[in-house]
Formats: sequence, C-alpha cells, structure tokens
Amino acid sequence: MGQIVGIDLGTTNSVVGVIEAGRPIVIANSEGSRTTPSIVGFTKDKEIVIGDQARRQLVLNPKNTFYNLKRFIGSDWDELDDTSISVPYNVKANESGSVRVLSTNTEREYAPEELVSSLIRKLINDAETYLGETVDSAVITVPAYFNESQRQATKDSAILAGIKVDRILNEPTAAALAYGFEKSSSNNVLVFDLGGGTFDVSLLKISNGVFDVKATCGDTQLGGNNFDSKIVDWLAEKFLNKHNIDLRRDRQALQRLTEAAEKAKCELSGLQKTKISLPFITTSKEGPLHIEETLDRKIFESLSQELLDRLLEPVQIALDDSGWNAEDIDEVVLVGGSTRIPMVQQLVKTLVPNDPCQSVNPDEVVAIGAAIQSGIISGDLQDLLLNDVTPLSLGLETIGGLMKVLIPRNTPIPVRQSDVFSTSEANQSSVVVQVRQGERPLASENKSLGKFRLSGIPPAPRGIPQVQVAFDIDANGLLEVSATDRTTGRKQAVTISGGSNLNEQEINSIIEEAKAKANEDRKKRSVIDRKNSALTLIAQAERRLRDASLEFGPYGAERQQRAVELAIQDVEEYIDDDDPQELEISVSALQEALFGLNRKFAAEKKTDNNPLQGIKNTFGSLKDELFSDDYWDDDDPWDNQMNRNYRNSRYGNSRDDNDPWDNDYFL
Ligand code: ADP
Ligand code: MG
Repeated sequence: MGQIVGIDLGTTNSVVGVIEAGRPIVIANSEGSRTTPSIVGFTKDKEIVIGDQARRQLVLNPKNTFYNLKRFIGSDWDELDDTSISVPYNVKANESGSVRVLSTNTEREYAPEELVSSLIRKLINDAETYLGETVDSAVITVPAYFNESQRQATKDSAILAGIKVDRILNEPTAAALAYGFEKSSSNNVLVFDLGGGTFDVSLLKISNGVFDVKATCGDTQLGGNNFDSKIVDWLAEKFLNKHNIDLRRDRQALQRLTEAAEKAKCELSGLQKTKISLPFITTSKEGPLHIEETLDRKIFESLSQELLDRLLEPVQIALDDSGWNAEDIDEVVLVGGSTRIPMVQQLVKTLVPNDPCQSVNPDEVVAIGAAIQSGIISGDLQDLLLNDVTPLSLGLETIGGLMKVLIPRNTPIPVRQSDVFSTSEANQSSVVVQVRQGERPLASENKSLGKFRLSGIPPAPRGIPQVQVAFDIDANGLLEVSATDRTTGRKQAVTISGGSNLNEQEINSIIEEAKAKANEDRKKRSVIDRKNSALTLIAQAERRLRDASLEFGPYGAERQQRAVELAIQDVEEYIDDDDPQELEISVSALQEALFGLNRKFAAEKKTDNNPLQGIKNTFGSLKDELFSDDYWDDDDPWDNQMNRNYRNSRYGNSRDDNDPWDNDYFL
C-alpha cells in the first residue's frame, strides 16, 4: 500500500502535508515552496503548466491561465456571482448549464474538475518525490460550506488524478484538528477561515482528542478575491472617468489590474498607504497611458464595507445553531491569508473579544489538519476522534414545490434519516424523488442534487401507497438517497453525483486520455531530457578541449583531443537526426573519449597536484548556461515593458415510519 497524504486544495494556494515520525509536516513542492499556487495553464506549445510556472504566465497568457477554479467546481453556471465569472479567461455554460473553461491554445474546453485534477496530480507527484514512495490516497479538504455537488466534484477531481479519496474533510475542522493536536485542555473554539475565494466559520468543542463540531456556516463565493475586485473597480472607474476607456474589457489590462490590486491589498495589511503604478496599461490616440495612484487603508476599508458586512451573518448563524453565545468561546483560530487584513481581524475582535490564537500558521494549518486526519486513517495517530456535521439542510421536493427537510443543517454525521411519503394522485404508478439542499422553504430555490423515479407502484387511491425515502450521509459528508415502495419492496437508490457535472463515461474518457497523455508526456520528456544532457555533455567536452589546448598546447594530447572532437560531431549529428538510439551510443562514445582525455589530465596533474582543477572549470561554465533567460515572449510590443514590471513584482426526525397514517407528504 502506498502512502496517504493530506491536501489543502485551496482556491488560491494548495498545500500537502503528511505524517512523518508521528508528527504532521508540510511537504515542499518541486520548486521548493511550501505552498503551490492553484493555477493551471497551457503554453503556446499546448504544454500544461501548473503552480508557480502557471502563475508566471498569468499576465502574458491570460486566456490560457486558469485560477480560482475552485469557485467553479461543482457549481452550475446560474449559481456563480459576477466576481467569480469576471476572469480574464473564457468561461461559459455548456448545454446542461455546467461550467466549462476554454483554452485558446489547446482549442479545447475543460470541466473545472479536469484542470483541478492536474493540480492534484502535481501535488501528489511532488509528495512522492519527497517521500520516495508512491502515494495512492489522500484526505482532501473542502470548505465546510461546500454543498454535495461541490464535494462530489472535488472527489471526482481526485479520481481523475488517479488518487483514492480516503476522506473529504471540512477545512475549518482540519484547522481545528491542527490547533487541538496534542492539547489536553478543553476548549470551545471558533475557526474563522477567510481564504482567496471562500469563507467558512465553524464552532467546535475540543477536549482530550475529541473534536465535536457544533455548527458551521459560510459563503462559498466570498474571499480575498472580492477585496481585490473592489480595488480593481476603484482603479478602473478612475481611469474610465479620466480617459473614457474601460480597462476591465481588456484581458491583459484586467489581469495586470488584478495583480496590482492584490499586491496593494496585501501591502495595506502592514502599511497605511501604498502606491499602485501600472505603466503602459493601454494606449489611446494620444499615445500610451499609465496608472499612478495612491491607495490608503481608509479608502480600501470604505470600498470593502459591503464585504465586511457579509462576513458577519455566517458567524451569527453558526452561533445561533450551536446554542452558544460569543462569551462561550475560549479561543479564535484565524485561518486563510485574508485574515491578515487588519479590518477583518478587528471585525473578529468585535465578535469575540479574546485575542486570536497565535500558534498556528494560517497558510499551513489546514494541510496540517488534513495530514493529521490521514494519520488517523492510516493508524499512525491514535486517540483522536472527529465528529463533524452536515453544513446545509437536505431534503426533497414535495407536492406544491415545497421543501421537506429530512436532515437539518448542522446534524452530526454520519447519519441516516428516513420518512414515509405517498402519492398525490389516484392510481399514480410512479413517484419522482427530487433531492435538494439548502435552507429555503421553496424547493426550487434550493440546490438540486439530482432526481430519480421509483416506478411500479400498484394502483391505489391517493395517499395510500407508502414510499419510504432514506437519506444516508457518510463521514465524508457524501449523500446516498434511496426510495422503497413498502408494498412491493421495490427500491431505487442513487449516490449523488450530479455535482461534478461529468457523467461516469466522461470521467472514464478523461482518465484514459490523461493516461495516454502521461505516457506521451513521459516519452516527450525523456527525449528532451536526453537531448539536454547530450548538449550539456557537449558543452562540457568543449570546455575540456579548451582546457586541454591551454594545458598541453594544440598537439600535446592530440589523440585524445581528436577523439573528443570526433565524438562531439557524432553527438551533434544524432541530436539533429532525432534518433534516440544512435544518440545514446554517440553519447557513450563521447563520455569514453572524455574519460580518456581526463586521464591524460590526471597523469599530467600528478606532477602539479591539482587533478580537480579542470572539473571545477567545467561546472563553472555549466552553471552560466543553465541560468540564461529566454522565457519572455517578444510578440507583443507591451510585453517588454510589462515583463520588467512583472519580474520586479512579487508574486432529526419525530415521525414514526411505522405509522401508516403519518404520511402526509405527497410526491
Ligand atoms: P485559499 O484557501 O483560498 O487558497 P489562502 O488562505 O492561501 O487562500 O489565502 C489567499 C488569499 O489571502 C488571497 O486572496 C491573498 O490575496 C490573501 N492574502 C495573503 N496575504 C495577505 C496579506 N498579507 N494581506 C491581505 N490579504 C492577504
Ligand atoms: Mg484555504
């Protein structure tokens, strides 16, 4: 069995953790960072780039660089707010109303799950490299306020990446696990998690390794991005007034505005004011135009007032549901990069006066918690018990379009709940079970999770047949619904999978394609690797030849020098010919020839005692070649200016099922 890791799959950044020697740690990615930007892109050559590499092409290649994908995952087009869809790349609804993302480079549309799966794969690959063994399963965190569809879609993304999901864990619960790990005291904790795209609040009671979630609430369309948008709008409106040009219509300008806005926002967490400077943002008849503005904290705070108000309600609802008062809370755990915003911290203080906990790192705490959960599953960690709740009410649509709740929100999971329903018409032979999730009394205003039909009901007057509908939620928060006709025993069941907007066939074909692509990519990569190492060897050999002519004079080691020269010519020829086998042979020949020349050096050096000198020289020149910079694209006249800027910037249920008269719900 392979290893199991914990993944915080964030809107903005993702982090992987694992249990090592009984303790949770964060694994650095192949670029050496502990967090990986949740960004996936395609280059002009249709190559996929992920994480930091993708972030680097955000401004230059906005139509092919996809971020904030988590806001789309498992959501229907109609459910997205304006901020979510105002991205510089193309998003659209497909025929069934699911979100699709378009890449102009690959000329293909992607389900968000597909792109997220590439990100998961990278995280897993990096973890495997670190661990030196395969990873075949993971605990993946999701915002507590994610509905069934969003959870299922997250799970599908992992399946697409070839990973088994051992547990879907709520992010604030993960944070609480990390906070309460190895703490023996008993505490009531509020976890306040404001990331890049989502907001979650959870209330937990932690005592001696038992984590009881009391209530959770949130907003899956609210996060740091919304604060960025406020600054973008402020800049764009000013520019519009001055120059009569709306920069938000220009993808590249929008991307640059967004990055500058985020940078300014982060700076305002430490400073009172900051300068926003965007030279050559666009051109007019008069020539190039620039942005040069100063934003101070007061203006930023007034721009963000509406967002701040939106943070209050979920906290209040969670408190009401838990039956706690603010005074009952012992500690606040702040999670997510956006809790660094001073006015957000102040807001939390007005809710709970105690100083927030300082012992957790807001960027890593969720991954640490996921790692702890993975340790509980693998048996590496014991004596920890986690009792979570379901965030949103689950029920079905009854006659007249009303929502009949079977499992109210904040019910501890796993849970099974059932109720008896009947027909609404005489001789009705089938009923439709339409499963919905949400808090509205009108079913149509709640999220539809799918529907199915139970047929073969024997003819009977209205209200006589008894159909028992049962909802089962497992520890992952995933739902299965079944309906049984009590007379015939006929049963229909579905696992809710409507969320991912991908059916099983689509999922399988994506997996197949990914596998084929992985093989192809591997082959391509090994060809490139082989060529690169051949080129490196040539450079090394040439360097060595120069050393030799300095050392021995042009004829001092003529036989060995000539052998190296000839071998270089062969390697060069086969690199151009694209013949891998011949290339390999010629590379070995060159290595051998170099070996001969090096021996000559060694023999010579015995006399002056410095056999390593030549080798050092060779490495010195290699380093220079590896760091040459030809990444930036010159096609666009503005790119050069932008590159310079860019490169400088940072980047319950009382009913009795057995009572035949108790079924006043009609389907
Ligand atoms: P997610 O969980 O969505 O991946 P993170 O917890 O990594 O998100 O937080 C990312 C968000 O935090 C971004 O919107 C980023 O701009 C914001 N952020 C990071 N550092 C700061 C800071 N110093 N001040 C304000 N916002 C910050
Ligand atoms: Mg997060």
